[in-house]
Formats: sequence, structure tokens, C-alpha cells
Amino acid sequence: MANAILPMPPYKWQTKLWDDFIKRNENSSVPHAFLICGQEGFGAEALATAMGQYMLCLSPSEKLVCGKCKACHLLDAGTHPDLMVVTAEEKGKQIKVDQIREISGFVGKTAQQGGYKIIILYPAEDMNTNSANALLKNLEEPAGKTVFILVTKQLSRLLPTIRSRCALINLPVPDAAQALSWLSDVGFDDAAEAQELLSEAGGAPLLVKDWKDSAILEERAELIKGLIDIVDGKTEPMIFAKKWGNQDPLFILGVMLLGIDATLAFQVADKPVGKVYEALVGRMKMASTKVLYAMRDKLCAKKAQLLGPSNLNPAMVVEELTLDWIAAAKPLK
Ligand SMILES: [Zn+2]
Repeated sequence: MANAILPMPPYKWQTKLWDDFIKRNENSSVPHAFLICGQEGFGAEALATAMGQYMLCLSPSEKLVCGKCKACHLLDAGTHPDLMVVTAEEKGKQIKVDQIREISGFVGKTAQQGGYKIIILYPAEDMNTNSANALLKNLEEPAGKTVFILVTKQLSRLLPTIRSRCALINLPVPDAAQALSWLSDVGFDDAAEAQELLSEAGGAPLLVKDWKDSAILEERAELIKGLIDIVDGKTEPMIFAKKWGNQDPLFILGVMLLGIDATLAFQVADKPVGKVYEALVGRMKMASTKVLYAMRDKLCAKKAQLLGPSNLNPAMVVEELTLDWIAAAKPLK
């Protein structure tokens, strides 16, 4: 979570939510707990942070923090004593009950800067049962000017009793024009590429930016080339499997799935193919539609297995997927 003071609202597709939030502040109808629900890549955590910062500023003006008061200086330095951020110690790990107990201590103290005390907790679905029950106690007995801001990607995984104690904020999917204009602001010069990636990211602009900032797009291009080469016999399947065997099998599986979907869309509905999967579809388009559907089912089942509690060996999964892929890509005689 960023230390510096964020733009308010952090993203242009959050303007309406931000206005509603400001209204609540003006009407003194800030609830004890907010619950922001939004998929990855829509800026839910940034929104939570900005809300917390706004409430802590000692003299906010209109819809922004003042940037000058003591609270703002502390926020900018990331050292405001009345702001507590709780998240899993490692990505993908659970939020522990000890961490929730620290919240109780924080709630019990008086605000050092005389305003709100803010607790931001994300991702809320990563609390185990003990943690969730401990949090519930805090939500049931809110103390003074304490505001919880919970963030979740999966509302259904939260206890109904937690959900019912929070004011729900549903983060909207930005419309394509807003998302593309934001992507252009952050340096996407190729509008067609931005559009293709955006649709692949389910409309999540921040996800697209993350992809661009990391090596993932180059890695994917290399993987796609490899998937063509094994079908063409230019690369031995076992060499491919060895090369990609130490990667997250979900990444390889995801690219295979998108490649098959693009091929099926082309075969069945004559849908145009974007740049990313063009070469792959060109290679796969003569394969049997029936076999591709079967491969798709298999990939989905494997994905569910990988996401669930399983002890699959990643290298073996990749090896299996490689052989299935070659079999599925065989052109119809
Ligand atoms: Zn201020």
C-alpha cells in the first residue's frame, strides 16, 4: 500500500463513488465499517487508502485532503499513528488471528491526532474462521470514531454477519473509453494493443498496466512461440516441458486456454483474432473443433484442481499439458 497521499479519487472511474463518500462525510453519516468489493485491477485498495487519508486529514477542502495539516504530513510519510493497515504477511497466505487481535488494541486506544482511527484490511476473504470471528467482535462493538475499511474480491467468502455490519461499496467496471483513456495516460501508445489486453484482463486497467510493467507480456509471447514450435516439430516436447516446467502451471494453462478460445471463436463464429494470438490460431485453426472443446474441458478441470487444495507436481502438470496440447493441435485429416 502506497505511503504517499493518493489522488482523490485514485482513478477516474471511481468519481461517483468518491462523491457519495464525500457526501457521507458532509452529512456526518460515515458508517463504522465500509466494505469495498472489487475484482483485481480496478483499484479497490487505492480507493480504501484514499478514503482513509481523506478522513484523517484535519481540514479537508471540498473533495480533497488539504495536504498541509499535521495529519497530511504524517500520511505522506506513511507514519500516521491512527491508521492501521492489516493484510496477509505473505501474498496468498491467511490473515492471522493475532493480527486481528492487534486491531482490538488499536481500537481501544484514543486517537493520537484527535480525529478518526482508521483500519484498512485486505483482502478480507483471506481471513480464516478464527480471524473472521475475532474481527466480528470488533465490528460489533465499535469504539468512538473508528472506521473499518475492508476490501474483498470475493464477497461470498465473507461471513454474512461481517457483510451485514458494513456499508457495501461495489467497485464498478470502468467503461472501455474511461479505461483506455487511463491506459493512454499511463503510457500505452498503441490503442489497439491496449484494447486487446483490456478485454483479456476482463476490463481491469490496472491489471493491464501490471502486465506491461512486468516481464509477463514478453514471457507470454515466448510461450506462444513455443506452443507453435512444438506443434511444428521445431522443438522437442520434452525440451519445451523442461523449459516451462519450473513456471507456474496456471500461467501456461491460462495461455493455452486463451489460445484455444481464440481458435474456437474463429472456427465456430468466424470471430477475428487479435494480434497476440494471431499466429497461434493460424497454426491451430485446422484442428478438430471437437478435440479442442475436449482439451478446453480438460484445461478447466486441471485449473480447478490447481486452484484447490492439491499436491500436484508443477513440472509433471506442464509435461502432461504439453503432450495433450500437441495431440489437440493435430490438423484434421
Ligand atoms: Zn490535511
